[in-house]
Amino acid sequence: MPPVDSEFAFDLPVPASRPRSGLAAALLAWYDGHRRRLPWRADPGVAADPYRVWLSEIMLQQTTVATVLSRFGRFLDRFPTVIALANAPIEDVLAEWAGLGYYARARNLHACARAVAAKGGRFPDTVEGLAKLPGIGGYTAGAIGAIAFGRPVAAVDGNVERVVSRLYRIAESMPQAKPEIRDLAQSLVPADRPGDFAQAMMDLGATICLPRGPLCGRCPVARWCDGAATGDAALYPVKAEKAERPTRLGTAYVAIRGRDGAVLLRRRPPRACWAA
Ligand code: SF4
Repeated sequence: MPPVDSEFAFDLPVPASRPRSGLAAALLAWYDGHRRRLPWRADPGVAADPYRVWLSEIMLQQTTVATVLSRFGRFLDRFPTVIALANAPIEDVLAEWAGLGYYARARNLHACARAVAAKGGRFPDTVEGLAKLPGIGGYTAGAIGAIAFGRPVAAVDGNVERVVSRLYRIAESMPQAKPEIRDLAQSLVPADRPGDFAQAMMDLGATICLPRGPLCGRCPVARWCDGAATGDAALYPVKAEKAERPTRLGTAYVAIRGRDGAVLLRRRPPRACWAA
């Protein structure tokens, strides 16, 4: 077990036991002092703007926080509200999305904005309602539901999966372990400040419970963590054996006009692989 920072001087090691009462309060206290300041977030205890939360979550699905940080403000300037986004031509949205991942996501973003605009510009305030919108899956619905509407639901992304699998030393390998991880993550969600708790779990995974080297000595939930108590946290989540990958051969042609060097491009259909 690494040395414990005085700031988080919990009396380690402590045998971890379920349930983890006290974990949520400790994590929220840490979040209040150590959270990442991100432009789509509200202050602790304050519900965030659903449009900003939704936009950031869709952007973050394929790009790093650093990339989203550099583009988020510009996107908001161009499309300041969900109604403005819905009313914009899809070509403008696709152009603004350049560099932010697959264009299929931008098409879904636009379709979702239109669906919300059709209902008066207000996002549904339940996880079930959110999950019916185009491009919003279980994780994103949970994240928006918790962060923007205070719903007591877990938002389980890769970071949170890692944290939970270590907290409980989940022996099942991924992805089979996902349902168990989701249930355990949900069992940790407090009734008070569920949105901050969701963001605290994300921040813990992104800054402390790192993939290769968890910083257990600085972790606010170390005293409830089976992985930290055992000292083998980095082994979790357990990875599935890699299936042998088939060799695929392909041929590509580039058509270049001799006269001026123009390159022939064809836009792929919206639902194809590598869709434009
Ligand atoms: Fe992750 Fe270590 Fe914290 Fe457990 S104690 S959640 S393994 S950083």
